[in-house]
Amino acid sequence: MFCSLARNLTEEEKKGYKEVCWDDKEVCAFYMVRFCPHDLFVNTKSDLGACPRIHDLKLKESFEKSPRHDNYVPKFEAELAQFCEKLVMDLDRKVRRGRERLAQEDITPTPPVSAEKSEQLSILEEKIKKLLEQVESLGEAGKVDEAEALMRKVEMLNAEKTLMTQQATNERGLTLTQEKKMALCEICGSFLVANDAAERTQSHITGKQHIGYGMVRDFISEFKETI
Ligand SMILES: [Zn+2]
Ligand SMILES: [Zn+2]
Repeated sequence: MFCSLARNLTEEEKKGYKEVCWDDKEVCAFYMVRFCPHDLFVNTKSDLGACPRIHDLKLKESFEKSPRHDNYVPKFEAELAQFCEKLVMDLDRKVRRGRERLAQEDITPTPPVSAEKSEQLSILEEKIKKLLEQVESLGEAGKVDEAEALMRKVEMLNAEKTLMTQQATNERGLTLTQEKKMALCEICGSFLVANDAAERTQSHITGKQHIGYGMVRDFISEFKETI
């Protein structure tokens, strides 16, 4: 009788039917004891998705009022600390990789000239070489005027070549200084632009990602002090 009744209930009714208690597995212990990390990074790069367990203010209150509360806090906090430590470990690994990347880009002496540019350069060099050969044979043949005319052409091409090389160097210089200005936030692992405008630095510090990881790190160090 009881079972058949339960089977006829809709999902919605079943929820109300079955009394959920704060110590049920499907209730979020993180949320009740402190904060749930799933709530911290919504819509950021570190979004953890929705928490699979129930967050409910009433359950949290009944946990706080429960005579078993004090016995459960250390257990719940230990679980939360473990979860937080995994988050931070993953993040620190990411930060380390990011820092290695930054360091590598810093020491890379000169990124290669673009394929297009080097193609143009080698065509120019080939032209100059051929002209010089012609100048030489003209000179040997005693055709001084013609040799001089060709020589002026060579000089023009040489100037063009210098300009092209300079442009390539300037472009490289630009990307290098841009890379050098990058830094990594030690708290949340975000890439920052050193010398960035104050308001952008501010929006990073007040952003979910930075505050979230700040909370996670603070909780870990607080937890470590208590054990
Ligand atoms: Zn949760
Ligand atoms: Zn940060």
